[in-house]
Amino acid sequence: MGFDQLGLSEKLLSAVSDAGYSEPTPIQAQAIPQCLMGRDILGIAQTGTGKTASFTLPMIDILSEGRARARMPRSLILEPTRELAAQVADSFEKYGKNHKLTMALLIGGVNFSDQEKALERGADVLIATPGRLLDHFERGKLLLNGIEILVVDEADRMLDMGFIPDVEKICERITKKHQTLFFSATMPPVIQRLTKQFLDDPKKIEV
Ligand code: AMP
Repeated sequence: MGFDQLGLSEKLLSAVSDAGYSEPTPIQAQAIPQCLMGRDILGIAQTGTGKTASFTLPMIDILSEGRARARMPRSLILEPTRELAAQVADSFEKYGKNHKLTMALLIGGVNFSDQEKALERGADVLIATPGRLLDHFERGKLLLNGIEILVVDEADRMLDMGFIPDVEKICERITKKHQTLFFSATMPPVIQRLTKQFLDDPKKIEV
């Protein structure tokens, strides 16, 4: 199967081809069409499977219509570490080079004021670690009621690092109806409970 059979736009296919990818990986082939249809997804997959592109590619096309307002990001990707968050931001830049999406990265260890400016400009895509995201939220610099797509990535690592209460807090504050994409390499009971609570009839994809 080729990337051109998944329902992605021509300008996205051109960025994928520039990245040197000839075929979608199994998780991409399964997740991308479902995600474009608006379905919630539960992906059970490790890193190295092409999981990042399985959510970034459809998100870029879904978000290409419309524009973020100040302090109201349109999508949110939660990552357990700064390094993973920065890698996902690089993927968005690479795959989204033919689109005009705005992005903000909220990670610890970087000063607040540059991050606040990025939020103020409006972010179609917000990539964050949970603690830093809540810091901005509690300072009133960020509203979560414009989120159309939420990604919880590496949920089992969030659990190992003690971030699940923060993730729950964030999920509860996204009140508008939205699409949720949830990824974990393993499914311990706490993670299963989260998926039951926050996913709506998800398509389960295991690779
Ligand atoms: P990930 O699992 O998202 O961390 O991706 C692992 C690596 O696979 C990254 O370096 C990607 O650039 C690469 N990759 C993702 N999708 C493809 C693809 N369809 N073909 C070849 N490489 C890919």
